[in-house]
Amino acid sequence: MVRVGRHDGIGMTSRRTRQRLIDRLRREGIRDERVLSALDNTPRHIFVDEALASRAYEDIALPIGHNQTISQPYVVALMTEILLAGNAVLNNVLEIGTGSGYQTAILAQLVGHVHTVERIGVLLRQARDRLYHMRLRNISYHTADGTAGLEQHAPYDGILVAAAPRTIPEELCSQLTVGGRLVIPVGENSKQRLVLVEREAMEFVETEFDWVNFVPLISGKV
Ligand code: SAH
Repeated sequence: MVRVGRHDGIGMTSRRTRQRLIDRLRREGIRDERVLSALDNTPRHIFVDEALASRAYEDIALPIGHNQTISQPYVVALMTEILLAGNAVLNNVLEIGTGSGYQTAILAQLVGHVHTVERIGVLLRQARDRLYHMRLRNISYHTADGTAGLEQHAPYDGILVAAAPRTIPEELCSQLTVGGRLVIPVGENSKQRLVLVEREAMEFVETEFDWVNFVPLISGKV
């Protein structure tokens, strides 16, 4: 008889359910194998409260406290795919809205360095602990209002924003390298468009993607 330890059992279950999630994302149109394999490598259940762990591999956003949510896996995959779709290597990336740290974990596996900014200190600390346990060390953590980006580490090859402003903050565009890409949800409550802004030598080019539903980007004092 082969005895499977309790942890192995949990590990097996979550690996299998995670694989089902990856199959689903593939069917929904995510094509970048680098992104799919980063999601496959990332245990989403450790980014939510234990009481919600059994739902962690459903393709839905879940509450993480403080009126915030962990993003839906499809949207995390799509935003990451759009960010990586330029051919350049992304050495320096800015993420605004750390939340649970799940999107940060995906980015950190795919780019050189991630600067992540969160306005709620408690969420940032919890995220930092999880990512540290995952042995992801190429991340710097900042408690701040990220509406105006993070000037001190600019320019960025990529900027990913996980909360929605009504219009694209100009500072974010100006903190991109030439060739850099900004992926951001833009619009009013529950009616936002995912937008890609690419910085070219002489201009910024905008492309619209899916409708999405993010929490608002809140500006002002943290
Ligand atoms: N991708 C994250 C989603 C987090 S929800 C995840 O998967 O967990 C969006 C986060 O943006 C929230 O934690 C919220 O506190 C944060 N946020 C909102 N406005 C912000 C701002 N101006 N600067 C930094 N973080 C902000």
